[in-house]
Amino acid sequence: SLVTVDTLILGAGAAGLMCAMQAAQRGKSTLVLDHAKQAGKKILISGGGRCNFTNLHTSPENFLSENPHFCKSALSRYTQWDFLELVNKHGIPWHEKTLGQLFCDDSAKDIVQMLLRECKSAGAKVQLRTEILSVDYDHGYRVRTSEGDFEAKSLVIATGGLSMPKLGATPLGYQIAEQFGHRIVPVRAGLVPFTLHDHDKAAYEELPGVATEVIAENQRTAFKEAMLFTHRGLSGPAMLQISSYWFPGESLEVNLLPHLDVSDLLKTARQETPKATVASCLAKHLPKRLVQALQTQSETRGVPWQHKALGDISNVEIEKISKYLHSWSVKPNGTEGYRTAEVTLGGVDVNQVSSKTMESQLQPGLYFIGEVLDVTGWLGGYNFQWAWSSGWVAGQSV
Ligand code: FAD
Repeated sequence: SLVTVDTLILGAGAAGLMCAMQAAQRGKSTLVLDHAKQAGKKILISGGGRCNFTNLHTSPENFLSENPHFCKSALSRYTQWDFLELVNKHGIPWHEKTLGQLFCDDSAKDIVQMLLRECKSAGAKVQLRTEILSVDYDHGYRVRTSEGDFEAKSLVIATGGLSMPKLGATPLGYQIAEQFGHRIVPVRAGLVPFTLHDHDKAAYEELPGVATEVIAENQRTAFKEAMLFTHRGLSGPAMLQISSYWFPGESLEVNLLPHLDVSDLLKTARQETPKATVASCLAKHLPKRLVQALQTQSETRGVPWQHKALGDISNVEIEKISKYLHSWSVKPNGTEGYRTAEVTLGGVDVNQVSSKTMESQLQPGLYFIGEVLDVTGWLGGYNFQWAWSSGWVAGQSV
């Protein structure tokens, strides 16, 4: 069988569905194909089932890309406010959690239903359980699938990144891009927990579940958010955020007490309670188990701290302890990889794609939107906003 449409979209995720409803609203006959049994699977599990669907503070600075200017046009043409208007139009209850992050009050299902309703009322069709076998171009696109052949003037690639293969992520989008001569910026897992070397894991073995507010920093960036110890290593928003800016072999600096000056704290405590220990003083500001682990580690790191009473420590020692806690250094062994990563860094090189339309500059009628592109947002609703903005822009142009 052969089905002919104006616009064929591969991937019924966030970007693909947004593009479909826009294209259909413009009167294009539009069909979305996906191999999954369900549309928008990642939306459904996102944000712990409540979908952090955008961020009030979205701006180009919240995205990583080889070309940081690329995302600007789409983000300004379809903004977080535009998406919020759509959410409100559908009467979906939402709230701001923290740092501008907007979540559904009830369920991420509300967002998927909203997108599917918009597609339906505009006349866009979504066909699931369809394996893509090949894509060819000859005066138009011909897509062979497990369910027959499809032909279209415009082909939109919205197949996402590689994270969470269990949810149906595949490299199809990158393969199609390469087939048409596109360069792929090397991909790696982002927004992903760190694993630790065995010696560090042993040092922190009592800590899984312990969380504390930190500043995680390297030479590229810094994030002030919570850090969480896990059985495998380090997680929590601060670590997920900086993982996108980390390369294997590098260390991170963590300010464990960003709200305090440890040197002032210890000097004051030394005057007021000279018999108290360093550990008991710190335990007022950090989880006790963490203080214990840091105390043990401080010995191997040449910080003279041990079980000393405050009255027995010198100013030089205080400065060393202060430096140790304000720039605690940790060298991850690696990350947990695509299995648990929220996003994929890298992807289709944006320098070969129009920032105004998302159309390929090498192959007319071929479009790339969403995570398959080399545009990756921070944690906090930015990745969905990129999917909405890039999907909307392509939908106006196909
Ligand atoms: P996707 O939404 O991944 O859609 C791609 C679609 O393509 C899928 O439906 C897939 O089945 C289909 N597909 C793939 N390969 C093939 C193939 N070979 N044949 C046919 N179909 C194919 N971002 C936020 O902003 N806020 C959050 O709260 C958030 N939480 C997240 C939680 C988790 C656990 C994960 C993994 C990610 C989260 N993200 C979040 C990131 C966000 O989900 C993605 O950035 C976003 O979904 C990307 O949209 P997309 O449309 O490009 O790709």
